[in-house]
Amino acid sequence: MKLVLLGPSGAGKGTQAKQLSKVFGIPHISTGDILRGHITRSTEIGQQIEHIMDTGKLVPDAIVIELARERVAETDCVRGFILDGFPRNLYQAEVLCEMALGIDRVICIRLDDEVIIKRMSGRFSCPACGAVYHTEYYPPKVTGICDTCGNELIQREDDKESTVANRLRIYHEMTEPIISFFYEKNILTEVNGLGSAEDITDQIIKLFRED
Ligand code: ADP
Repeated sequence: MKLVLLGPSGAGKGTQAKQLSKVFGIPHISTGDILRGHITRSTEIGQQIEHIMDTGKLVPDAIVIELARERVAETDCVRGFILDGFPRNLYQAEVLCEMALGIDRVICIRLDDEVIIKRMSGRFSCPACGAVYHTEYYPPKVTGICDTCGNELIQREDDKESTVANRLRIYHEMTEPIISFFYEKNILTEVNGLGSAEDITDQIIKLFRED
């Protein structure tokens, strides 16, 4: 099963993608994680994109498209994958279609900006294992410490409030047009992002039982 998850930052794409990846046994491909990996390893790409990502802007298409193309060609993707964060503008969506991978469904998680701003400003993650917590909705057992590996949690530079507003503006401007692009291809399903993560996962799983 080849899936794309769409939706604004903070709507829960990453959380859903991780869960669905377990349920369906297919890899979760987050372009954000791949790009952050380059920054952590200080690769040539990492050095080029660090400032762009910190300010919440989109990384150049040529870089992201190449990374996504390489990742979906890996052997663990033969049975399917879940794309999270790609495509993020109309051009990337067109290139994805040209790759002719046979995307089965695009799921768009909808959520209002005010809710997102509240969610994101409380989001903290573990730099070592990638676990994500929220001060209000999903706190770690010990404040500021990762439950899984005991590392100190950090707030992503691009989760800071001023950057969140910028990322939402970019989402509305650049990413939202993709929704009608996939709707016209008859593969779009919209899901309400308000509700517990478990309920939303159940809603998505049900879609595939009905397919
Ligand atoms: P979120 O889903 O919370 O917005 P991501 O981890 O998906 O965060 O993305 C973080 C950042 O990585 C984006 O703000 C952007 O700078 C960069 N990025 C990720 N995917 C893409 C993409 N497909 N095109 C351009 N930039 C991207």
